[in-house]
Formats: sequence, C-alpha cells, structure tokens
Amino acid sequence: MKRERVVIIGAGPAGLTAAIYTARAQLSTTVITGKHLGGQISTTHEVENFPAFPDGTTGPELSERMKQQAEKFGAKFDYEYVTEVDFSSGTPFRVKTGSDEYLADSVIVTIGANPRELHIPGERDYVGRGVSYCATCDGFFFRGKEISVVGGGDSALQEAIFLTKFGTVVNIIHRREELRASIALQTRAKANPKINFIYNTVVDEVKGENGVVKSMMLRNLKTGEVTEKPTGGVFIFIGYDPNSQLFKGQLDLDDTGYMKIDHLMQSSVEGVFAAGEIHDSVFRQAITASGDGCKAALSAIKWLDEREDQLQPLDAEAVPS
Ligand code: NAP
Repeated sequence: MKRERVVIIGAGPAGLTAAIYTARAQLSTTVITGKHLGGQISTTHEVENFPAFPDGTTGPELSERMKQQAEKFGAKFDYEYVTEVDFSSGTPFRVKTGSDEYLADSVIVTIGANPRELHIPGERDYVGRGVSYCATCDGFFFRGKEISVVGGGDSALQEAIFLTKFGTVVNIIHRREELRASIALQTRAKANPKINFIYNTVVDEVKGENGVVKSMMLRNLKTGEVTEKPTGGVFIFIGYDPNSQLFKGQLDLDDTGYMKIDHLMQSSVEGVFAAGEIHDSVFRQAITASGDGCKAALSAIKWLDEREDQLQPLDAEAVPS
C-alpha cells in the first residue's frame, strides 16, 4: 500500500502538467500512466500549435519534456493501469493498479478518451493488419499504397495530410458533403494533390485477403450505390469516447460518459478533480488539456492546504529519521 498526497491517473498533457504543479508545491505525487506516457498526443507526429515551439515539436517529445519537468520537482511515475478506484468512503481515496494499491488524499483524473470505432464487419479483424487509428504509429507501413481515411473532422484531415508522406493517394471518406474540420486544415488538405475527397459516403465493410486489408465496401448515402474500392489501409478518425467506465457509480458522468466537474475542476466527490478530455468534449487540444491540468492541480493544492491539519502523515513522514 502506497501513501500519496496526490495520485494523478493518466499521463497526457493534463496529467503531466498537473504533476508539475503538485510536485512543485511539495506534495508527494505519483502519476499512474498506463502503458505509455503522453496519451493521445504521444501518437501525434506533428504539434505545431503548442506555444513556445516556433518550429513545432512532436507529441512524444512534448510528453517526455513535461515528464522530465515533473520529475525534476519529485513526481513519481508508475507505468501501470488503474483497475479499480474507491472514492466512497472519503479520504484517503483508494486507487488500485494491477500490482499496487495507493491511498491518496486527493486524486486528479486525466485519462482522456479513446478513438471511436466504426463497428462494421472486418474492422476488428484487420486492426494492425490494415485498419489503424494512429497514423503516426502505422503510416510508415503503408508506403507506396493507396490509403483511406474515414472522417471529416480535424483529426481525419490532419492525419490524412501526414499520410500523404507515405501513400500514393489518400482518400478521405466522409459521410456528409461539408467537412467538420477547421478551414485552415480544409485549405491545406484540399491543396494537397495526393488527397482525394469522397463525400456522402460510408464504409460498410473492410475486406481482406491473406490476413491483410485489400478493399472496403463503400455506400453512397445519396444514391445508395454500393462499390468495392481497393485500398491498402483504412485509418479511422471519427472522434473519441471518454475513458470513464472505471468511474461509473463513483463519480457523476453526463449522458455521453464525460465526467461532470465544477468550475474548480472538482468532480462530484470532494477531493477528486478532473482535467483534459475525460471531461472536455469540445476543445481537445494539448494546450487546453495542459491548462486544465494546471487548474485541477491548483484546486487540489488549495483543497489539501485547507485540510492540512486533518491529513494523516505519509509513511515517510511518520518514520522518524
Ligand atoms: P470530430 O471533430 O468529432 O470529428 C469526427 C468526424 O468523424 C466527423 O466528421 C464525423 O462526421 C465523423 N464521424 C463520426 N462518427 C462517424 C461514423 N460512425 N461514421 C462515419 N463518420 C463518422 O473528431 P476529431 O476530428 O477527432 O476531433 C476531435 C476534437 O479534437 C475536435 O474538437 C478537433 O477540433 C480537435 N482536434 C484538433 C486538431 C488541431 O487543431 N490540429 C487536430 C485533431 C483534433 P460528421 O461531421 O458528419 O459528424
């Protein structure tokens, strides 16, 4: 059993920023990261809009630098998944991982959201064999192939532009006629000679041969016409679902699963805060997640400070040196 003042669940920009603040405030802090550091940003090849990087940076670099900054102030990192939480009996809160249990005076939840799936035949069968949700991770494997991207939002267009480095052609398949993506990304994508837009169309099935994707069944929603289109790979960018299953019944969630918090980033349980995409379905930027992480950390610091005389000493403090 490990005792901490602050346990941060998740290590994307929100969690890492929160760790910088709580550790710098001299609060004993562990970040439980899951398997990888960085969350979604770690799969983003190019980050051009995070302030202070005029030449841009990469998601992994941004995460690593934030981690180093948090470590400098004493934050610890546990590369485990949280399997269970118990917020029902107040502080200290219980947070279990596969191999450990933490008792934390406050918790900051920053475990973000996961890519949404199409739930069509063939999709699951060919994940890692032609179906992907991460262009940075898998783009390289599609060199010289015709690539398909599903979606019409910022992610679809940004990743399609990236995929033109590898593919001969990148087809963006979007279910409507208007794109949801920002005008800036639309302009860049439309100016790219390797990008081809297929509007008013959905993918009904991903088909393969010898264990790899070979084609997909497309359906035009206006004409009803069904066609089989050969493709080397299908990248799906149709939005995200919050990773809030762990907190069902413990914290208030909205109808779509996003965590409900107040203006101080506090959840429905006092002392449990949230930051980033676990509550934010609108902005979804690394910088807004970082800003959120800062706010949640400042609230946690204040909350702990106000209860300083009620907090049990941490083990390390209890043992006379
Ligand atoms: P999004 O904005 O929610 O877009 C999802 C896209 O997928 C939409 O075009 C949607 O179509 C389509 N879609 C949803 N469900 C579908 C289905 N079942 N079948 C086919 N198509 C489906 O998600 P996102 O692009 O991942 O972006 C999420 C947030 O992150 C946004 O706020 C975005 O601005 C932000 N973001 C920003 C950047 C950047 O600034 N560089 C990069 C990435 C993401 P409809 O349009 O018809 O609904």
